[in-house]
Amino acid sequence: MLDYPIIDAHLHTYPRPEIGWQAQSGIGSSGHAGTIEELVALMREGNIAKAVMLNMTPVFDMRQVALSKLPPDLSPVRRAEAEEQIRLDAIARLQRRNAWTCAVARENPGLVPYIGLDPSMDGATMAQEVNDRVKEGARGIKLHPTIQRHFPNDDHLYPAYDRAQELGLPIISHSGAFALAGDPEQHARPANFVAVLRQFPGLTLVLAHMARGFLDEAVEIMQAYPNVYLDTSGTMSGTISPNTVSDEEAVAMIRRVGCHRVLFGSDWPWFHPIIDARRIDGLPLSAEEKRLIFYENAQRALGL
Ligand SMILES: [Zn+2]
Repeated sequence: MLDYPIIDAHLHTYPRPEIGWQAQSGIGSSGHAGTIEELVALMREGNIAKAVMLNMTPVFDMRQVALSKLPPDLSPVRRAEAEEQIRLDAIARLQRRNAWTCAVARENPGLVPYIGLDPSMDGATMAQEVNDRVKEGARGIKLHPTIQRHFPNDDHLYPAYDRAQELGLPIISHSGAFALAGDPEQHARPANFVAVLRQFPGLTLVLAHMARGFLDEAVEIMQAYPNVYLDTSGTMSGTISPNTVSDEEAVAMIRRVGCHRVLFGSDWPWFHPIIDARRIDGLPLSAEEKRLIFYENAQRALGL
């Protein structure tokens, strides 16, 4: 096993076990709920020096559920008021989750808090949320175009990109296909980030899951924008068996992108960081290449 600490640049945490189980909706394979207590124990056991918590709130789904419960006979004015209240309630939940993520990171050395934002926020609220959470320790922004049903080049997110570029906050986004559900519109395909990168060329962007299914497109973008990276989460996992890509395919993917552009991530609690690290450590890569993937790339790209 590795004789140096590693950085897990992609995982998720939950304030209570039942929330973590619910989020995994029966398809998680680590056997963990995703609590801070479990994570701290894993970090000690696996020599994981830093864990980047990509916590987000499923605002779109929350709003859909609340909207479906509105009485059908509301007047147009009352309906508009109720819909606005639902929007504000979902944003308040997102803000509480961000605050929680920053608070647990302050209490646990090695935890790195990333916050969620949503295009349903108005621009001023979004910019303020970034500013406020940075004061509480936030180190980056997580986006999930598929779950949030937004295109990355949606104007509503530009205040976030603007703040991120200004403050040097990396953005880590889900990218490519989505394992939990189909996304016929392919919200998260890498090409949807091109307009963003053109306007914010200083942004550091990590496309998760090796841009699942869209590696060619990602490589093209990475050639034009040196601040774009990929993470291994969910695609080079050793937790699931059989492996979704063979060792040869995994190495070919890494070399194609360049080993200085790939970050180790587990997507815990869906997968298991120690098992995944062991799998990648077993790939026929040089010691130097592994050190980049397991530690130095994340340290440099995410400013850790
Ligand atoms: Zn994830």
